[in-house]
Amino acid sequence: MAQAIEIVEVGPRDGLQNEKVLLSVEEKLDFIARLEATGIRRIEAVSFVNPKRVPQMAGAEEVMAGLAPTGGRSRIGLALNLKGWERAVAAGCDEANLVVTASDTFGIRNQGASVAEQITALHAIAALAKAGGPRLSVTIGVAFGCPFDGEVTPAQVAAIAAECDAAGIAEIALADTIGVGDPWGVRARVAATRAAAPNAKLRVHFHDTRNTGLANAAAAIDAGVDILDASCGGIGGCPFAPNATGNIATEDLVYMAERGGFSTGLDLDGLIQTAEWIGAKLGRVHPSALSRAGRFPG
Ligand code: ZN
Repeated sequence: MAQAIEIVEVGPRDGLQNEKVLLSVEEKLDFIARLEATGIRRIEAVSFVNPKRVPQMAGAEEVMAGLAPTGGRSRIGLALNLKGWERAVAAGCDEANLVVTASDTFGIRNQGASVAEQITALHAIAALAKAGGPRLSVTIGVAFGCPFDGEVTPAQVAAIAAECDAAGIAEIALADTIGVGDPWGVRARVAATRAAAPNAKLRVHFHDTRNTGLANAAAAIDAGVDILDASCGGIGGCPFAPNATGNIATEDLVYMAERGGFSTGLDLDGLIQTAEWIGAKLGRVHPSALSRAGRFPG
């Protein structure tokens, strides 16, 4: 049997948060339903950021309230702090994904907190999560480099991973928020994170800003990581990262992984159609290569 790769779809969150066109709650619900119809089991559906700072993410509570029953799927809410966690609990998210940034300046610009302040919040939220509420995972942001502070070392990433391990976090994601990573840097960070947090499952989150996104995904899979974030159509980016571009495209990742003999459980044609649909909604050509070139064999 083919080894399974789990893809966490982040299009409705990371994908939409940097787009000029604002989607209505109904359009976001339509997008999520179309994605889940392709077989997606875990989806980053909403972000509990301040809608004054990120208007694209307004209506998070309304989106959560409007979703069809889970059918065993998981709807994830992004949280940047205690307030975000509390909103994820109140909105009935199945999972909350807390972002802890690896650099101080990005942390202050993205969520108004230094790394040390974010670690304090992490432990407070993890203690609350142990008592109930959504499953808690942590994404280590700018784990491959910061647009303001420059290089981020594997040791910096490992130090945060160790705090996550101490807090009992079951899943840690390494995020290349600004797309500066390379495949060898992926290997180094995966190894450092495993050593620092031996009890956690690893997930990776790549942006294709400098054309290394899929190479980084392949390196992570080769290193034994079997949970990867991706966004349908490759849309998205971070509003607090200059020149940000989208995540690796879900359909490009599915194509590559399945050509390599892995199974994803996703409907590639459905993903291509959904990428076209969201591209039309956003009024731009989405960057997915597979949608442009077509699948092979046809
Ligand atoms: Zn991202």
